[in-house]
Amino acid sequence: MNADLPWLQQPLADALVRARSHALLVQGPAGVGQLELAVKLAQSWLCEDRAEGQPACGHCASCKLFASGTHPDFQLLLPEALDAAARESLGLPFEEPDAPKAGKAKPSREIKVEAVRNLLAFAQATSARGRAKVVVIFPAEALNGVAANALLKTLEEPSGLLRFVLASHDGASLLPTIRSRCQPLPLALPEREAALQWLATQGVKEPEGLLDATGGRPQQALSWAEAGLTDAAWQALPKRVARGEVQALADWAPPRAIDALQRLCHDLVRRAHGQPGQFFATASLPSPKRPAPLLAWDAELRRAARHADHPLNASLWIESLVAQAQAAVTASLRAA
Ligand SMILES: [Zn+2]
Repeated sequence: MNADLPWLQQPLADALVRARSHALLVQGPAGVGQLELAVKLAQSWLCEDRAEGQPACGHCASCKLFASGTHPDFQLLLPEALDAAARESLGLPFEEPDAPKAGKAKPSREIKVEAVRNLLAFAQATSARGRAKVVVIFPAEALNGVAANALLKTLEEPSGLLRFVLASHDGASLLPTIRSRCQPLPLALPEREAALQWLATQGVKEPEGLLDATGGRPQQALSWAEAGLTDAAWQALPKRVARGEVQALADWAPPRAIDALQRLCHDLVRRAHGQPGQFFATASLPSPKRPAPLLAWDAELRRAARHADHPLNASLWIESLVAQAQAAVTASLRAA
């Protein structure tokens, strides 16, 4: 498997020892390897040549089937919109998604009940290799209400050798009935040094700034770098936005633009209270004299974020966001 994230070694070892339930819930922030941890656990439970409490050996017949994406006792349940990218990042075979066509529905971000019904058939079948059957569901909060309800009974009383690993970065939005059937397995942010080293091995230049930009989430930092964001461009953002430069965000998808502005607003409020920046280098940030206009802007950004997936006209929308940002920052720089 490609995705060897060095900071998962210890959490994996702990999980193999601590797992008591047939259903685990890996919980923590996005972008730190929840899916990878869940999949490593699955591979380990299916491995046919490992010592008790040890991770998968990587070379037995089961591990080879697993790596080729054809293990008959393993099911990975993902929303359609995530499927190809997630399998690719895990080094598993995947089908290229169809190019978006007019009139065709966008791939869903939800895990739907049909997918869960297929899973139930797998759950009832006998284990092909006789060791275990493992289902990984990611992200668990993508299960829509009907799908979650269809899963409940099996999650509570799985037949024989069946085990579940659910992974979630939004545990609060999971149905309590799902949460209460799983043993929680928290996954924290990795150590900064380990994250920086890994980003460097992935070819990210000057990874410190991007790691900070993402609040310490190395996978997210890598995906931003792969999308073309550099440390220099990120650090230039606050002042460009303060000048009202629409170009600063013009190439960004609306959800990412909103996310960047929310991080900027958060840091400017910190500066207004004399604290250093969290997502941006302090030197990259203007020095607001009062937080009130920023707090009003924050509320506007939260409202806008709800519609970020479907703005009617993305470039007009970005233009108005930048104008709003400029006005808020300018007002915050004036003495009360
Ligand atoms: Zn093995």
